[in-house]
Amino acid sequence: MAQGPAQTGSIIVTAGYKKNIMAYKKVDHYDETTTSGLMDVYSKALNLLGEDAHREGLQKTPERMAKAMQFLTQGYDQDAKKIIESAKFHEDVSEMIIVKDIELFSMCEHHMLPFFGKAHIAYIPNGTITGLSKLARVVDVYARRLQVQERLTTQILAAIKESLNPLGVAVVIEAKHLCMMMRGTQKQNSITTTSAFDGEFLKNTTRSEFLKLISKNLE
Ligand SMILES: [Zn+2]
Repeated sequence: MAQGPAQTGSIIVTAGYKKNIMAYKKVDHYDETTTSGLMDVYSKALNLLGEDAHREGLQKTPERMAKAMQFLTQGYDQDAKKIIESAKFHEDVSEMIIVKDIELFSMCEHHMLPFFGKAHIAYIPNGTITGLSKLARVVDVYARRLQVQERLTTQILAAIKESLNPLGVAVVIEAKHLCMMMRGTQKQNSITTTSAFDGEFLKNTTRSEFLKLISKNLE
């Protein structure tokens, strides 16, 4: 989705390219001790839920679950600041840089059910910029843990703030929570929006400019 030159002098990137970036960093290494420990537990859990963990269709399920969960929580072993600092450049840019529509998949820590949606990130550099794809990776580092959407939002902000020391950072996340959709209140279409602002974005004018620029995505 081309944005064209923004009237405000901002640089906007739509993160639809993310799938390609992910293609080469697929992680397929699983810790054996963790995998076998989880398999035991998941096998018991299946039986407790009224299933027969040994029936044909479920024979490999505990192993698949063990691996899927390790994949979905790999963020614990990753360092967001290191990722940003691996691509840090001195650049005299003072425009707002926005990366929007970053795909996000995480799991709520209360029910271990997925929540998913989009993150929009903006920062105003103070002499240092980072690779745009790094911002998308920072989202993954914190999303691939057990989370609450509020903390995910502030952790992303803090990592960018501490690594780049920008004049301002803004993070907005809109997500749907399966724990709300499949159980509990069963509100099928509710979207939870969280935001965190720092520096220049604490000023009304800067913040509204950012919100206006991403607002096409807000439902
Ligand atoms: Zn939940």
